[in-house]
Amino acid sequence: MATSGGNYRNGTHKSSMKVDRSLSLNSNPKPSVKSKSLPSSGPRRNSTGSLAGGAAKDNAEVPGRVRVAVRLRPRNAEELVADADFADCVELQPELKRLKLRKNNWDSDTYEFDEVLTEFASQKRVYEVVAKPVVESVLDGYNGTIMAYGQTGTGKTYTLGRLGEEDTAARGIMVRAMEDILADVSFETDSVSVSYLQAPYTYMQLYMETIQDLLDPANDNIPIVEDPKTGDVSVPGASLVKIRDQQSFLELLRLGEAHRFAANTKLNTESSRSHAILMVQVKRAVKERDSAFSSENGISSQMKTLKPPIVRKGKLVVVDLAGSERIDKSGSEGHTLDEAKSINLSLSALGKCINALAENSAHVPVRDSKLTRLLKDSFGGTARTSLVITIGPSPRHRGETASTIMFGQRAMKVENMLKLKEEFDYKSLSRRLDIQLDKLIAEHERQQKAFEDEIERINIEAQNRISEFERNHADALEKERLKYQKDYMESIKKLEEQLVKNQQKNGSEKVPVGLKDDGSALTSNTKSSKLSAVEEVAELKKLLQKESLLRKAAEEEINNLKSQIAQWKRSEASGNSEILKLRKILADEASQKEKLEGEIGILQSQLLQLSFDADETRRRLDRGGSGKVPGGLESLMSQVKHHQQDSGNGGTGEKASIAKLFEQVGLQKILSLLEAEDSDVRIHAVKVVANLAAEGESMAKCLGLPSCLSLAALELEMNQEKIVQAGGLTSLLMLLRSSEDETIHRVAAGAIANLAMNETNQELIMSQGGIGLLSMTAANAEDPQTLRMVAGAIANLCGNDKLQMKLRDEGGIKALLGMVRCRHPDVLAQVARGIANFAKCESRASTQGTKTGRSLLIEDGALSWIVQNANNEASPIRRHIELALCHLSQHEANAKDMISGGALWELVRISRDCAREDIRTLAHRTLTSSPTFQAEMRRLRIDY
Ligand code: ADP
Ligand code: MG
Repeated sequence: MATSGGNYRNGTHKSSMKVDRSLSLNSNPKPSVKSKSLPSSGPRRNSTGSLAGGAAKDNAEVPGRVRVAVRLRPRNAEELVADADFADCVELQPELKRLKLRKNNWDSDTYEFDEVLTEFASQKRVYEVVAKPVVESVLDGYNGTIMAYGQTGTGKTYTLGRLGEEDTAARGIMVRAMEDILADVSFETDSVSVSYLQAPYTYMQLYMETIQDLLDPANDNIPIVEDPKTGDVSVPGASLVKIRDQQSFLELLRLGEAHRFAANTKLNTESSRSHAILMVQVKRAVKERDSAFSSENGISSQMKTLKPPIVRKGKLVVVDLAGSERIDKSGSEGHTLDEAKSINLSLSALGKCINALAENSAHVPVRDSKLTRLLKDSFGGTARTSLVITIGPSPRHRGETASTIMFGQRAMKVENMLKLKEEFDYKSLSRRLDIQLDKLIAEHERQQKAFEDEIERINIEAQNRISEFERNHADALEKERLKYQKDYMESIKKLEEQLVKNQQKNGSEKVPVGLKDDGSALTSNTKSSKLSAVEEVAELKKLLQKESLLRKAAEEEINNLKSQIAQWKRSEASGNSEILKLRKILADEASQKEKLEGEIGILQSQLLQLSFDADETRRRLDRGGSGKVPGGLESLMSQVKHHQQDSGNGGTGEKASIAKLFEQVGLQKILSLLEAEDSDVRIHAVKVVANLAAEGESMAKCLGLPSCLSLAALELEMNQEKIVQAGGLTSLLMLLRSSEDETIHRVAAGAIANLAMNETNQELIMSQGGIGLLSMTAANAEDPQTLRMVAGAIANLCGNDKLQMKLRDEGGIKALLGMVRCRHPDVLAQVARGIANFAKCESRASTQGTKTGRSLLIEDGALSWIVQNANNEASPIRRHIELALCHLSQHEANAKDMISGGALWELVRISRDCAREDIRTLAHRTLTSSPTFQAEMRRLRIDY
């Protein structure tokens, strides 16, 4: 409020520091809300936000006050004359951001604003200090409002609506804002591109409580629609036009102005009697690293293609309000009076809302007028809002100026909670994945077919060539053989004939020789026959030589043929090796195919996981600022169940996709992914296994079975059995050992905790060194959720009678007690549950006589923690501890230690005050049946 002489509103810079800090406290890197010129500030107005709670991470709410600037119009021609002898009614001190409103010649009131713009302020500067931060917010995915308030003729339209066609420097806020928006967005229609924009806008005027579309003036009673869930206000009935460039925007503005002029002429009014509202909706695809969602899982580069595109939706509303002057002054009457009332109605409703908000009043009369309904989000909502109040210098309008200033002062007290409007575009991711998948499948099929054809062809060709060679060679060989056989036979025949001839010759000559009658005659005869014999021998020799030459040639020919055959054989062998090579390629192809199928599986599981996460996110968003950490060991189960409840009918489809995934990918494959190299894949696989381990009801549902409880339990058991049979439990335990990733530890421990609900699994976990691994995980973990899971798993194991000794010997109790270092109530509740389970088994064993001596819990030093927490304010912790105390006290061997440890007092308290009757009775019974306790109570004179 204004005060006299130099006393002014408290600066808000201190609190603006506060905002920065709370932003940086946020574990998620938020897109910075650029607020150089008009820093957001001030403590939160009320507790609607959840900045301190866990949900703030996804809600991205940032507090911010409505920023108010005041702009003084220079004296106009008339004022220069009429007010020539008078001083201006205001004096500005822009460097101090103060305005002095003159009361009289010697006294004035001082007011402080976020910006004080003198009559010399350029349009550019006005845009930069008033509008630019809002426009930048809108581009970052917030809603933003810029409005001008002031008496008619003080420069509202000048500030907001000047087109500046004759002088660029005169361009107003609307034109400059659109320039900035258009410069910052990409028009790529390709959904793959990094950013794209739809910048539709609506331009209408609010007149006599009806909303008229200035782009389609016939459309003059447009309803306001409010989304019951988000509270977002919209006017879906108004024309939405896509803007691609500044020129088309200017044309629309001109068209709007023309329609406004025509409509007002028809109604015999002026445009200053109506509110002009320009709405610009900006929808952008966000780069991964800029997103508020991005750091959640530390997505690797491989995963990036799997992230659904994120879209941010920002809405910029620019409002040129009707003149704020009082009706009586403007001398309205008749129709104009109605109209003025109506204008006053909406303006005065706006004033009332701002008063209510500034005073933190419980009721804000938003519904009193259409204007306030439409601007609901701009004051005290989730939009960043800048208000420029315009004033004139003339002392004649001092009253108007003063009331305008008061309006601005009150608006400065209004606190908004900015909310980032960011969401995953799952549809387009799914579309992209589907296309990618189908492409891969088709490509693979084509390649495989081509390979098979090629191999077939080569095979046939080789076969043909071999058989052709074989045929040719057999023929040639046979021919040669026959030829030589024939030659040989002929020459033998010739020789035989020759021989016969010779023998005959020799035989006829021998007779006379043997007679030896006439020696002379004989001698001459013998001589001639001898000669012919020699000739014959020579001839034979020649023949023989020829024969042997021929034979040699034949042999050579045969060798030649043999070597040719060898060569053919070699080429056949090389043909065979080529076939082998092709076979190998085919095998490689097949394994490639298998790998691709595996990848498809991963893709599907990741998609599934993403949709889980998204649902989780959505739910958290829906829950708003509750900031409550989900309790109980069964968080994974509840995650799945919630998911089911939330998604309603749609959920069945998604469940069906789990079943489908389960069927298609196969548990074995999912489990094998637990050892994948990529840690993201590993995390996803562990999450899927964890979900399966926690999922019964949903499986029943997706199989189309009625989701009765027993069936759900049966399904859960079936799932768990399948996981264990397929070696999933072993893999999960291995992960605790081998992985260093805390997320994996948390999810794996959660899955183990779920599996550890079953007795057979408990024994398996123990026999595989589970206690050691869980203890190790507990010792290294810092995240309370990890500790909660580990404690839950051990707590389940504590409830198994057969495993008591082993569990203790392997350090189970010590591990449990070690986890109380984390003071998170969920962790403590699990520790308490483990202790109660253990104590119950022990008391059973001692009743049966199988256990003697002190409790192992006491041996391991649990008693002091038990006593300290017996009256813990968190009821789950208290209840378990109370039970544990009752169980411990049933065994006389523990009584002494319990007395010295202070447990007796607690027992007495429990027996008297415990809200649960069964526990109360149990405590009472144990106290009265123990002689040691009885004696001590007598000694202490406790009346019992
Ligand atoms: P409103 O919209 O508040 O009724 P206008 O924007 O129509 O007022 O301004 C009234 C007149 O004053 C116009 O002629 C306009 O050009 C002039 N005017 C307003 N503000 C300024 C300014 N800052 N500098 C120069 N002329 C101005
Ligand atoms: Mg105007």
